Amino acid sequence: MKPDDPRPPLSSSRPLLEIRDLNLDFGTPRGRIHALRNVSLDVPAAQVVGIVGESGSGKSTLAYTVMGLLPENADVIAGSMLFEGKDLLKMPVQARRSLLGDRLSMIFQDPMTALNPVRTIESQMIDIQHHEQGSRSEKRARALEMLHRVGIPDPQSRIRAYPHHFSGGMRQRVCIAMALLVKPALLIADEPTTALDATLEVQILHLLKDMQKEIGCSILFVSHHLGAVAELCDRVAVMYAGEVVEHGAVRDIFLNPAHPYTRALLECDPGRIKKSTRTLPTIPGEVPSLLGSQIGCIFRRRCRQAFNRCVQENPVEYRIGMDQVARCHLTGGKRLVSA
Ligand code: ATP
Ligand code: SF4
Ligand code: MG
Repeated sequence: MKPDDPRPPLSSSRPLLEIRDLNLDFGTPRGRIHALRNVSLDVPAAQVVGIVGESGSGKSTLAYTVMGLLPENADVIAGSMLFEGKDLLKMPVQARRSLLGDRLSMIFQDPMTALNPVRTIESQMIDIQHHEQGSRSEKRARALEMLHRVGIPDPQSRIRAYPHHFSGGMRQRVCIAMALLVKPALLIADEPTTALDATLEVQILHLLKDMQKEIGCSILFVSHHLGAVAELCDRVAVMYAGEVVEHGAVRDIFLNPAHPYTRALLECDPGRIKKSTRTLPTIPGEVPSLLGSQIGCIFRRRCRQAFNRCVQENPVEYRIGMDQVARCHLTGGKRLVSA
């Protein structure tokens, strides 16, 4: 956190992850896509932070930037990402790589992304513990225990199976077991339940919540599903066209949204927070192109409240109450240090 940043600490201890003013472009034959713009976000220790937003808003790009798993054409232009006090963006490649599968782990939307199809679950679950002390049989015992914890029936025999022997839901459980086996400080889950049916989704969300409490890790949970965020998360960040337009405690954001985009998402169908609907509501208009430079508020073409200033000036972050931040000129909050 900058010395002159008036943001209050979210808790007495420093956040596990502090992202500040992050800007990222993708180089393409058509020009540079500004996929992340001035993103600032905290993930407090032992809390679950949700990220919601329409398709193309930059949720996965943000998740992969934290993991350091960006494609070759990605270019971090500016910003910092302090994880446990150290800037991930300035860390030597080797030091950063050694965090993966140790302090940082990830659950992907498609479990097969994380699993090797030609190796047994057993060998993959033992290998993932390479940072841990202990013999192979101790690691196997830990793997069995974790498979049991995530609800895989008969782990003694299932551990010798290959990924394709499991159903989609069971494969995702295996991935959660693998991601948690290393007891990460931060687990990143990018749409981990989107490929599953609604009943399985509920089971997986409960499992994640239970395991998060037990291990005491933080989770960055990317989802299209507002109901899942309401169920699982302590905090939520709403992304639009590469910007975090609002963030704060889930209760504050869902009950008292300050940004017109957040309000539009919730107004489309407030029942979505309770119902098992897995798509975000449709807001009239289209997400703007992220190519080229942008003047004014990124949401202005779809905003019913847009006025002259919105065309000329991109809003900075304003704090509402103690712990809610929104980027909108109409927000009657305290202006934070410009991102
Ligand atoms: P979804 O909900 O569909 O998963 P998302 O919010 O995760 O969407 P991202 O995948 O992060 O969105 O994409 C953000 C923007 O960056 C989009 O405009 C996307 O087309 C673009 N983008 C993502 N990856 C690349 C890439 N490798 N090269 C060029 N553009 C990319
Ligand atoms: Fe709408 Fe203007 Fe606020 Fe942007 S700054 S969300 S265009 S009122
Ligand atoms: Mg995505």
